[in-house]
Amino acid sequence: MKVLFIASECVPFIKTGGLADVIGSLPKELRKLGIDARVILPKYKAIPNHYREKMVHLTHFNLQLGWRNLYCGIEHLEEDGVPFYFIDNQNYFYRESIYGYGDSFDEAERFTFFSQAVLESLPYLQFQPEILHLNDWQTALIPLFLKTHYVNHDDYMKIRTIFTIHNLKYQGIFQQDILKDLLDIDPSDPEFSVDGIEYYGRVNFMKAGLNYANLITTVSETYAKEIQYPFFGEGLDGLLRNRNQDLYGIINGIDVERFPRQQSKQENKVKLQEMLRLPTDPHIPMISLISRLVSQKGIDLVVHVLDEILQQNLQFVVLGTGEQKYEQIFLEASNRYPKKLSVHITFDEPFSHMIYAASDLFLMPSLFEPCGLSQLIALHYGAIPIVRETGGLKDTVQSFNEYNGEGNGFSFTHYNAHDMLYTIKRALSIYHQPPLWNKIKENIKASDFTWKKSAEEYVSLYQLVLQR
Ligand code: ADP
Repeated sequence: MKVLFIASECVPFIKTGGLADVIGSLPKELRKLGIDARVILPKYKAIPNHYREKMVHLTHFNLQLGWRNLYCGIEHLEEDGVPFYFIDNQNYFYRESIYGYGDSFDEAERFTFFSQAVLESLPYLQFQPEILHLNDWQTALIPLFLKTHYVNHDDYMKIRTIFTIHNLKYQGIFQQDILKDLLDIDPSDPEFSVDGIEYYGRVNFMKAGLNYANLITTVSETYAKEIQYPFFGEGLDGLLRNRNQDLYGIINGIDVERFPRQQSKQENKVKLQEMLRLPTDPHIPMISLISRLVSQKGIDLVVHVLDEILQQNLQFVVLGTGEQKYEQIFLEASNRYPKKLSVHITFDEPFSHMIYAASDLFLMPSLFEPCGLSQLIALHYGAIPIVRETGGLKDTVQSFNEYNGEGNGFSFTHYNAHDMLYTIKRALSIYHQPPLWNKIKENIKASDFTWKKSAEEYVSLYQLVLQR
């Protein structure tokens, strides 16, 4: 079975969030199950040089995007046993940051180009995928293009598509002027309707994936249910309810090989305390928060009771970037609590591993969370998660029950800062009761956060989609 993953980020080449972790690990796991899984990405400037130097130029051609005639190179490299392809176009991908061009025409143009380039590159890959596995809005146009541009191509008509929602909040919504100019679709065409890509007079890329892909998946069972309701549906819950027969939730795993275990928790903690100039004390509970600092991640709850948290006997380490208002609140508080709060406004993967490995507790009170990988990484490093019961957090963290000894973390239900604070205090109290604390650690050791089971579920879905 041949599956081509199409995505806008992937470790170890380029990462802004959990999507990159998934694309960097699921194909590898599928290959262990005998699937010929490969990956195609944009060739960004930010991909480290030692990878760029290893890339082999396969071919290049010119691609017509509306009136534009564009260079499209295809490069290839194998990493960790997985074949990767890269779409090269300097104008679109040699920039300082990989996203962040907002809802501009230019942002739409870049990922329309990418989607079209992927389809046009298929004859040159010496690999004929039976399934295109698409991820998030940047790749969502592909099933639409298959329908509008390739109906007379037998090779393309055989291809099946699976569209995975990693985060429904980011949909790729653009002004109508892209319709004719980039997508070659008229406002009167059926594709530009509520049942197509039209969204309140604008163009919604995500809707192309949701309406035209053969199957839809998202990254946890709970999120698959939640997004069928208006609160989580980001305006697309009706469409998702209509397609719920084709909508599946499969939880992400982590590639544990990428997260080498370190020394004992206490040794890691002391090392980090020294490095961050926090008082060294192996016994004080250390809580960490490693996250994009955006409202999705429940940062409002944390800043609302930050003083109360810091009045507890603990140390709190924050690593993240995001909205300036949050960055500033954390930095300001770290001036007031220099012995308790250490704040780092940067994106630094190796540093994040040190923090996971050093902390006793990991805070992740998300407003919504499609899957969440951070809590899995935390569990792997024995940092016990404190989460809100939503999406993948609900599916991976069971609140510890001190009466029957079950559970691998702490959780609360309502999006409420004092419920979170209460849960933090409960976690701290259990931290000081070693028999209970050790029981949680044992439960964590016995659980499995690898890809194995989820990869098998994807294989079943691939079989299903090929039968259609
Ligand atoms: P999302 O994809 O919504 O940001 P996930 O929990 O799925 O959330 O994945 C986040 C990933 O990014 C995790 O691997 C986490 O460790 C990492 N991460 C988040 N912020 C930082 C940061 N500032 N520095 C390093 N890694 C980070």
